[in-house]
Amino acid sequence: MGRKVRIFDTTLRDGEQTPRVAFSPAQKAEIAAALDSLGVDAIEAGFPVVSAGEHEAVSAIAAAGLAADVYGLARSTRRDVDAIVDAGLSFVHTFIATSSIHARDKLGMSEEAILGAAIDAVEYAKSRGLGVEFSAEDATRSDRAYLRRVYSAAASAGADRVNIPDTTGYSTPEHMAGLVREVAAAARVPVSVHCHNDFGLATANTLAGIAAGAASAHVTVNGIGERAGNAALEEVVAALEFLDPEATGSGGRPRSRPRGATRIRTRRIHDVSLLVSRMARVQVQHNKAIVGENAFGHESGIHTHGIVKNPLTYESLDPRLVGRRRWFAAGKHAGTHGVERTLAGYGLSPSAPELAAILERVKALGDSGANVSDMQVVTMAAEAMGREPPRRMVRLRELDVSTSAGQTPHAYVKLAIGDADHGATASGVGPVDASLAAIQEIVGGIYETRIADYAINAVSGGSDALCEVTVKVEDARGNAARARSVGEDIVVTSVQAVIDGINEIALRRGAERAAAPRRAKGRARA
Ligand code: MN
Repeated sequence: MGRKVRIFDTTLRDGEQTPRVAFSPAQKAEIAAALDSLGVDAIEAGFPVVSAGEHEAVSAIAAAGLAADVYGLARSTRRDVDAIVDAGLSFVHTFIATSSIHARDKLGMSEEAILGAAIDAVEYAKSRGLGVEFSAEDATRSDRAYLRRVYSAAASAGADRVNIPDTTGYSTPEHMAGLVREVAAAARVPVSVHCHNDFGLATANTLAGIAAGAASAHVTVNGIGERAGNAALEEVVAALEFLDPEATGSGGRPRSRPRGATRIRTRRIHDVSLLVSRMARVQVQHNKAIVGENAFGHESGIHTHGIVKNPLTYESLDPRLVGRRRWFAAGKHAGTHGVERTLAGYGLSPSAPELAAILERVKALGDSGANVSDMQVVTMAAEAMGREPPRRMVRLRELDVSTSAGQTPHAYVKLAIGDADHGATASGVGPVDASLAAIQEIVGGIYETRIADYAINAVSGGSDALCEVTVKVEDARGNAARARSVGEDIVVTSVQAVIDGINEIALRRGAERAAAPRRAKGRARA
């Protein structure tokens, strides 16, 4: 593979333009470092003129010594370009709108005036020693002949690269491909594409642009961005690195390693996704490609049967290649193989008739519309196998929360773990955070658990609404448990969900211990 596609990440600029998202300078620095170790070629750190905090954040990233080229955004004015230089950046992304809608109704400028401003900004940025990527904003709704003139003039003025923004997500793959060819011919510098997801086509349009010769893709982690968002880094990169339908359809197999189309270290994708989701406070939709919770989850019996025999039956990407793990859920679509595999994780191997009885109960519970947790499957299995139900190692004894305006919330939690009681006090940003921090304090050292995901929803309207809490608890050995709890009190319900998750992990670790060699057992007793 010769030419690598340049990944220009704009999570910190266009991603931050997601409604209600704002990163602190410290968060921006942490995300920039994570993007750099992920292997992106360019990081758009921000738009320095928007605020003092933004200027500070961009300056810090510029000074961080990252391997990636660090860009700042600037309108096509000398003042904005000066702010880029003042922030210590070496690269600028300048833009001006070229569609008649923007020219007339936003800028109030003639086509000639816009062309002049674009040329002046590029020339000025070059005179100040900056590397320049120039964008004709709303390119996909601009007059084609005029657009060619603008790009050609920007390149003649010294732009090192030109970018085609599909600002309102109005392009189709065919249209983007044609546009890339035209702009490349007019500008004769490397072309980037910057696609928005208003019609769900951001990734498709980006790939079409690259196939037509674009050298660079503008993307954001988790596809965050204005309105429906930007092209998602994880989708564009996974498609470039792993998709190979022609070869696979001609008797080959799906790719088992990246083809090297980018410099991205794909196994780090999920960690960076989690970081951005946490800092942006934007939950990734469960059915999101590559990074969504369900992207490698299986429930249907037909699918789990296939997966157990050969994962390629229902996965065209090995989850480990993007830092994920596959998981199985029990429910109305469950099948013998999935349930058998779940139970094996807890050291249970029922006979065929027992397994049939367990599956029947799982389906009955699933039919009632419920999520069936591992703990429930294990309990049903114990009943069917005539065994003691699994012991809940961790039980809630006491919960005392204090919260009032102007005071830091505190929580005292007492848990029974096995036969001993353990208590801890912790503070947090709110009563839930304080309570979960106290739990973490108690069990973190014992089970090495951490809360990997927490989400709360109101089930019904009104201030007496029921809330639904779903959590994912993980331990340091890679065990993960998903638990869900519904109740009236958000603190109690949250605590219950987390304790359920911890109990699942404790149960699985108990099974691992039982399966371990005798020598380890002897040591554990001593
Ligand atoms: Mn944009």
